[in-house]
Amino acid sequence: MIIVSGPSGAGKGTLIRRMHERFPFLRTAISATTRPMRPTEKDGREYHFLSEDEFLAHVADGDFLEHVIYAGNRYGTLRSEVDRHLHHGDSVVLEIELRGARALRDALPDAVTIFIEPPSRDELVRRLRARDTEAEADIQVRLAESLVELEASQEFNYQVRNDDLDAATAEMARIVDAVTRSS
Ligand code: 5GP
Repeated sequence: MIIVSGPSGAGKGTLIRRMHERFPFLRTAISATTRPMRPTEKDGREYHFLSEDEFLAHVADGDFLEHVIYAGNRYGTLRSEVDRHLHHGDSVVLEIELRGARALRDALPDAVTIFIEPPSRDELVRRLRARDTEAEADIQVRLAESLVELEASQEFNYQVRNDDLDAATAEMARIVDAVTRSS
């Protein structure tokens, strides 16, 4: 299992999409969230979009490998999503924030962890604003969370700095290639 983490706006999603193009056997576990769906998103593709009650029912049933509240919304990795792919022998990629990554790393010591770094704090702010999908208050919360996350980069097995997307893609591809060959 490959755990990809790093601040909101670092470019995790873009890099993971590029890994799927290069490594067709990679599978992404679709997380559940209570955050509102963005106009470009589709239920079951980016996330399983759940109500608060639905999410809490999964918590009560023990369906999550980990779950957190991030920027006021709930996010969680569904055990069923991960198991489904592992049963087929595929490599599973998870894109999650810091606290979830820590919890999974402790629970699954074989997992390989990759931290995606933005080029700078200023660039992170610019990217978060350029997204234009979140309200100002939400951007502020994400920024605060992101600054905390940046401090933790050295806890991860690998760090990929995303200042040049093609260079970051090549770097991440080297890691994914090495990890999936040896597993
Ligand atoms: P966004 O709302 O921008 O899609 O995601 C916010 C943050 O939640 C991102 O850092 C994303 O990686 C993280 N996230 C997405 N799914 C999960 C999950 O299942 N568990 C945890 N802990 N974080 C998640």
